[in-house]
Amino acid sequence: MKNKDDKERIDEATLLKKCICRKCESFSDCGEVGGYCLPTISGSRCITDEKECLCFKCAVHKDQKFRFKFYCTKNSEEQQSEMG
Ligand code: SF4
Ligand code: SF4
Repeated sequence: MKNKDDKERIDEATLLKKCICRKCESFSDCGEVGGYCLPTISGSRCITDEKECLCFKCAVHKDQKFRFKFYCTKNSEEQQSEMG
C-alpha cells in the first residue's frame, strides 16, 4: 500500500545518491553517509559547526519541496517543521 500525503516519499537509497552533504564545508567525516533531512537518519552525531549548508542546491531539496536546512545539526525536515 502506498501512503501518499501531498507528495511522493523518496526512498533512502535514492536520496543518498543525490545527497551533496559530503561536499559541504560543514560536513565532518565520521563515517556517516549524509541524508540528514530524512526522518530515518535525522541529524548527524558528529557535525556541530554550521559553516555553510548546500541543501538548497540539492535536487532532493527541490524535488521534495523542503523548506529547511542544516539538517545535520537541526534534524530532519519533518522534525524541524514540527518545531514550527
Ligand atoms: S537536502 Fe541536504 S541533507 Fe537532504 S539529501 Fe540534500 S544535501 Fe543531503
Ligand atoms: S545538512 Fe546542510 S549543513 Fe549539513 S552537511 Fe548537509 S549540506 Fe552541509
